[in-house]
Amino acid sequence: MTPKLILFDCDGTLVDSQHMIVATMTEAFAKVGHAPPDRAGVLSIIGLSLPEAVGRLDANLDAVTVGLVVEAYRDTYQAMQFRLAETAPLYPGALDALQALGGRDDVLLGIVTGKSRRGLDAILETHGLTSMFSVLRTADDGPSKPHPFMVVDGVAALGGHVSQTVVVGDTGYDMQMARAAGAFALGVTWGYNGRDELTEAGAQALADGFAEVPGLAMGLLVERI
Ligand SMILES: [Mg+2]
Repeated sequence: MTPKLILFDCDGTLVDSQHMIVATMTEAFAKVGHAPPDRAGVLSIIGLSLPEAVGRLDANLDAVTVGLVVEAYRDTYQAMQFRLAETAPLYPGALDALQALGGRDDVLLGIVTGKSRRGLDAILETHGLTSMFSVLRTADDGPSKPHPFMVVDGVAALGGHVSQTVVVGDTGYDMQMARAAGAFALGVTWGYNGRDELTEAGAQALADGFAEVPGLAMGLLVERI
């Protein structure tokens, strides 16, 4: 039997990492002697690769300075790893929802994220989630969201089918990636994009709290059978 697959985004969906990302970016700019970007600016670039993100935050930076900020970001992030449990907590209800879905015989869980594999591993380890997911696809594996690669490749690795797959994410990029792959798109409204952005990008259902995720995800999967 083809397994049902539920693929989660990480930042803004499973973990509330905005405080850590804003703090790290602020410190990275300060380290190279530049005025830090404002909070809204930093939140708007979450999901992009680091050099692209830094370049967008301050269009006046030359390439060398962008490289220095990126390096400073990575150093600062490394130093903050031991505090991940406080700086990147799971959203309320995340663990219960993952356990409810992961406990089903007909469902496998995975992660599709713009984070690096190293960054993702640290988050999963911190929260004791490493064994919960059957497949992980990260920025290290292929093209960035909204390209459908991570979904298509992760589904193939599990012997699943995109028509039996739901992507759960907080941004329009996640929804576009899901739909481009032929999977279902379930938007969550507690992350970095609002309801309108998610819906416009193709979300087929919206969850306002984690308790709604198992029911909505299974509902989407049942619909097509
Ligand atoms: Mg996200």
